[in-house]
Amino acid sequence: MSELTLARLRHDGQAFTEEISRESYLAHSGHKAVAELTPIYERYAKVLGREALEFTVHLFRDSEKGTEEHRSARYLLEWQLESQASRSLARLDEAEIALEGSAVVETADGRRVQYQAASIEIANERDRPQRLALDAARAAFVQREHAPLRLERLQREKQFIEALELAPDYNAAFEEMTGISLPKLAADCAAFLSDTQSMWDDTLPRFLRLALGIKPSEATRSDALALLRASEFDSAFPANSMQDSVRKQLTEMGIDPDAGGRIIYDLGDRPGKRSRAFCAPTRVPQEVYLVQRPHGGQTDYTTLLHESGHALHFANVRDDYPFEFRWLGDNSVTESYAMLFDHRMQDRNWLLRYTQLGKGKTESFLRLAGFEELHYLRRYCAKLIYEVEAYGRNGDWSDLPDLYVDTLTRATTFQYRSADAFVDFDPGYYSARYLRAWQLQSLINESLVSKFDVDWFRNPSAGPWLTRDLFSEGQRETAEEVAARVSPSGEQLSFAPLIRSIEKLLES
Ligand SMILES: [Zn+2]
Repeated sequence: MSELTLARLRHDGQAFTEEISRESYLAHSGHKAVAELTPIYERYAKVLGREALEFTVHLFRDSEKGTEEHRSARYLLEWQLESQASRSLARLDEAEIALEGSAVVETADGRRVQYQAASIEIANERDRPQRLALDAARAAFVQREHAPLRLERLQREKQFIEALELAPDYNAAFEEMTGISLPKLAADCAAFLSDTQSMWDDTLPRFLRLALGIKPSEATRSDALALLRASEFDSAFPANSMQDSVRKQLTEMGIDPDAGGRIIYDLGDRPGKRSRAFCAPTRVPQEVYLVQRPHGGQTDYTTLLHESGHALHFANVRDDYPFEFRWLGDNSVTESYAMLFDHRMQDRNWLLRYTQLGKGKTESFLRLAGFEELHYLRRYCAKLIYEVEAYGRNGDWSDLPDLYVDTLTRATTFQYRSADAFVDFDPGYYSARYLRAWQLQSLINESLVSKFDVDWFRNPSAGPWLTRDLFSEGQRETAEEVAARVSPSGEQLSFAPLIRSIEKLLES
């Protein structure tokens, strides 16, 4: 067997990552019924085995902190851990993808809906008893079929990482790899929840009464989906002008929406295509798929903006950067670019210029956007707190469903279901990436405003700046480093600017 070198690890690591990404893209977009991940893991066993892990641990331990070598080694080691855990769990992942692709949920009175589209059907169901019945059927299916798969995957992933003994436990390993302090982030989340409690208590009853005619004490998570669906704004966000609106905006800010042909938009319908949109880079930066299945209404616009941020990021990464800076790193960074664009749906001037909302409906739309932002932030803060507790457990997870219901219901007021405790759970702390991305996008927005004014989104100099100064760097820098580089006032990542913007939106 030939000696493993850094060049070989990068070369084979990239080839492996490209194949996994392409296979997932094909399965989730409906081009293939199932994902065949196991043969890919087998083909790349050399870079996913004990030797590769030891090699990467050495790179990490032997490099000096603060150097580019150490940065590379950290991203490569994090990737090794994630990929090796995924390799040992590939059969479970294949089973889950197959389940999500084909399962059908049936209510007591015989209504059948695609499992993976159930949350969309629930959001669209205006009749409350029907909505609750559909959610009950969905939850029964989750409890029986999906939750056991996810519970096994979460537990085996945790055991796999802990068995490597790189750190005392799963949470310590995550912190050492990523430099993210979980206790600090969880404490910030708890503070956000208490700081915004009275704002939430003042806001929720009015939205519930106006939209659904119910009281907070009877509201469930399925009601939250229906409330945020807000179909009264649909006519302002027609499906047939969605892509033109976003393309127009990107072009006005001096960004090529296709990135010279490197971004491929897949927005059509197809059997087996997932209802949840995603961006799949299959070669970075040369080939990036943006996959969406529009459902109607403003959420589609938010989604297209979000995925466009990812796609533009990956399609504009410097091609002379090594594998780890183009493909790996801190996903808070790519999520922040996605959120920077999707937050234009909270931007009065953007809405007036690129949608048919008009002056008459803009104020009520912005108030709803403030409510939605507060709701999702409170939900994600609660999720992070719950996940830190769950991953921190030694062995016994039997009371986690109760903890999940209690934590999420308390933060959002909406009644959650215990069946979702392991399905509504982001493996590997992706929720932490989202929360930090939320914080970072508000600083990038402030930076854009100070450089290019409030309507930076149509300033032809803003796009080239984003592409040159941010996107091209891939994820070489962490979210903290990007924040330090772009924030005009030297502000660090925090919830403070988000609270300010929610207050402004609610006062619209
Ligand atoms: Zn995203």
